[in-house]
Parts: sequence; C-alpha cells; structure tokens
Amino acid sequence: MPPAHPFDDDKLKEECGVFGVVGVTDAANFVALGLHALQHRGQEAGGIVTHDPKTGFNQARRMGLVRDNFTSADTMEELPGSIGIGHVRYSTAGNKGQTAMRDVQPFFGEFSMGGAAIAHNGNITNAVALRRELIERGSIFQSSSDSECIIHLMARSMGRQIPDRMEEALRKVEGAFSIVAMTRTKLIGCRDPLGVRPLVLGKIGDGWALASETCALDIIGAEFIREIEAGEMVVATDKGVESHFPFRTKKSRFCIFEHVYFSRPDSILGGRSVYETRENIGRELAKEAAVDADIVCPVPDSGTPAAIGYSLQSGIPYAMGIIRNNYMGRTFIEPTEQIRNMGVRLKLNVNRALIKDKRVILVDDSVVRGTTSRKIKEMILDAGAAEVHFRIASPPTAWPCFYGVDTPQREKLLAATMSEDEMRKHLGVDSLRFISLNGLYRAVGEAEGRNNASPAYCDACFSGEYPVAPSDMIEQGFQPRTAAE
Ligand code: SF4
Repeated sequence: MPPAHPFDDDKLKEECGVFGVVGVTDAANFVALGLHALQHRGQEAGGIVTHDPKTGFNQARRMGLVRDNFTSADTMEELPGSIGIGHVRYSTAGNKGQTAMRDVQPFFGEFSMGGAAIAHNGNITNAVALRRELIERGSIFQSSSDSECIIHLMARSMGRQIPDRMEEALRKVEGAFSIVAMTRTKLIGCRDPLGVRPLVLGKIGDGWALASETCALDIIGAEFIREIEAGEMVVATDKGVESHFPFRTKKSRFCIFEHVYFSRPDSILGGRSVYETRENIGRELAKEAAVDADIVCPVPDSGTPAAIGYSLQSGIPYAMGIIRNNYMGRTFIEPTEQIRNMGVRLKLNVNRALIKDKRVILVDDSVVRGTTSRKIKEMILDAGAAEVHFRIASPPTAWPCFYGVDTPQREKLLAATMSEDEMRKHLGVDSLRFISLNGLYRAVGEAEGRNNASPAYCDACFSGEYPVAPSDMIEQGFQPRTAAE
C-alpha cells in the first residue's frame, strides 16, 4: 500500500488522533464524527470500540478513511453502546506507512476485573526495551505497535481497578502519550508528564468527550471545557469527572509544531485559535525577514494563515497564486518516482495570470526534504515570475521527532546537512528565510521568546534538545545533539 499522501512526502506526518465519549446514546456515531474531524492527524486506518451491557465490547477496525468505513448503518449497528473510543492512524511506529490490520487501534485487553480498550497518540521512546523485557517474561504481542506495550504492562500490574493498572503501566513508559481508554463504564484520558501531544475535555449533554483537538468537540456539538493538563489522568463516567496527577510533576513541553502545522486551524490550543497563532507567525516572519516584492502567496493549504499574517504585517498584497486541487483521489497514486515527480503538479497549480512578471513571496509552513519546495519554485518560474522568495513559518527542521511524528532520518532533512544559504542555492530561489526559534516562541505567546534555560515547548526537531531522551534510538545508534553543535 502506498503512503497516504505520496505528494506530501515532503511534510512531517501528523501522528494519530484519539477520541472518546461516555454518557450518550449511540456513542459510535459521535466517535465516528469526532474521528472524521481528526482525519488530518491520520488517514491510513481507523478503529472504534464501544460497550453495551447486552452485547459487551464491540469493535470495528478498518483501513482507510472514516467517511468510507464508519458511515454505513450496518457497521454502526454493530457498535451499540453509550460509551466508545476511537483512533485514526498514520503509523509512526511499527510498520511505517504500511499499516497492517493488527496495528490498527484501539487495542483491547481482557483483565480479571473486566475488559479495557486503549487508543494512543504519541510515541513510546523506550518501547523496544519494554517489548524485549515483556516478551522475555512471557507476553505475546499481537502487533508491531509500541502502544501495545501499555496493554501488556497493565496485564502484569496488580492494581485492583483498570485506572490503577493504567497508571502503573504508564509510569514505566517514556516518551509522549495522550491516551483515551475505556472500561465498561469509565472513559479515561491521560497525558504524559510533559504533555507533548494534545488532549482536550468536552461536555455533551449529560456526557463527556475527550479528543485530540477541539475541532472534534465542535463537530458533535460538545462544549470545550479545558485541556487535560500535562501528567493528568481524568476518569469520566455519567456521574462526573475525577482528576488526579499520577506522575511526578514536570514543566510541560507541548509540541510547538502543533501550532505551526499539525493541528487544524479552527482548533483552540493554549487558549487561542490555531489560526490566530499561525497568522502571528506570519507577522513575526515579516518583521524578521522583510523583502521587497509584489505579492505574498501561500503554499496551500497549511501556509495560508501565515501568508495572510505576512501580508498584513508587510502591506504587500496577498494573492492566491497557487491553487490546490482538493479532489486528488488515491486513484492516481502509484509509488513510483515518475508519478511522485508529477505529483505536485497534479495537486497544485499556478494561477499564471497572478504570477506573471511578479516578484513573489511564497509562504510555506516547513521545509523537510526540500523536494516539494523545488518543484513549486519551478512551477512559479515557469509561470513567468520575476523573482521567488521563500518564507518558512517554522525554523529549519534539522532533527527527527521521536514523539509521535513521522520524520525522515536525520540525513534526509535538508536543514541537517545544509546552511540556510546552501538551502537557498539548492532550492534555486532568490531568497530563503525561516522564522527564528525566538520568533516562533513570540508568535505562540511567549513575549520574551525562548527561555533557553527552561523552554516552554518541545522544539527538538528545530533545536535538537530532546526533553525525553530517545533511549531506543540512542541504543540503535542515533546521536543526539552535542554541546558543541
Ligand atoms: S520534536 Fe518537533 S514535532 Fe516532535 S514533538 Fe517536539 S516539536 Fe513536536
């Protein structure tokens, strides 16, 4: 099976999306809608588990999009119950880009006190070591997913209740996790001690919902109550929500890239709309990297709010110089180099009438390998642009992410091997500037920029400073940044 978006293989891939609801009629319908709103976080596969007193636990896992799998009456009738959780997946561990059905979440475990299902967003950085240890002690793994470790650790716990077992299991896990889990009656949400990946709580009628992003609460008409805090576990039933903090308290290090790219622009993060933050990023970029030009164009769709911000700050007119074909289906997709080369043209087209003879500022959210940027530049020049200036709404991505985002190996990242000027020459553009790390921090609301002694966010893919040591990867030869770099 080809990657979900072969034409987007020059982007970091969103991780996964999780959703859960309790205390509603026909929970599965709400879960399907929530997952549909979170589809940008994973398009390879999805799954739903519900519980009904008459039928027990019910589950359905499918390859592909939510709208193609969880809309038929037949499927939804097989998922009765007033409590349910779900997961959409882009594989960040296990079989990358080649999801096998056995890796599709939620995972389910039967324990002495009853069953539990679990959906995980993030990446366990000590999963290889944990898996090795668990297998040596007799665990039989069903999948290649790091998340399955949590179920096996729970099985070994002596905790009397499922939430106790989950707590004990998660204390042994390193890395990033936002988890939505369920028992017969309890909906459980938990974030890792640094709160790297998002998770929010909503209220719907007498029930409760948990979701990766607020846009998934909006679609079911739930009220956004608050973000689950870093290191917090909540247990929601139809009687209310209990909260506690089972892990040692640490300063949170939320993923700053969620603000730049992963989250939907209509979601709320840190009390502010993602759209507004992205517009701020564009404004900061215009302050830091001004250039004389005729128009500011976004690389659609993710570069759009930053391009609007850049235009507003600089006074240079905003123009839709590149048009995206939103109806590019999978029909054309073949994983050959030739089709990949055509890919950008199939998906994006230049609005020639706007571009001809213009000095164009192109605003994109990131440069990963640089392959797409080069093709876009060629398209713009073919259309008769006088100059092309790239402005990038994130700092150079020079380090891989080990916390639930699929990044190429370090040597494939353009910024890992080239200076900004070398990248400019490589891309063949008149100028190339990235927002600085300080500028990005200012745009997300840290007025003083990055506090280097105690950064407020995870920014490891830009800074090389990993807030949790990626121990499996280090064991496999990855060399974290040294003090001299
Ligand atoms: S390394 Fe980058 S993408 Fe990964 S969690 Fe940190 S900021 Fe986010």
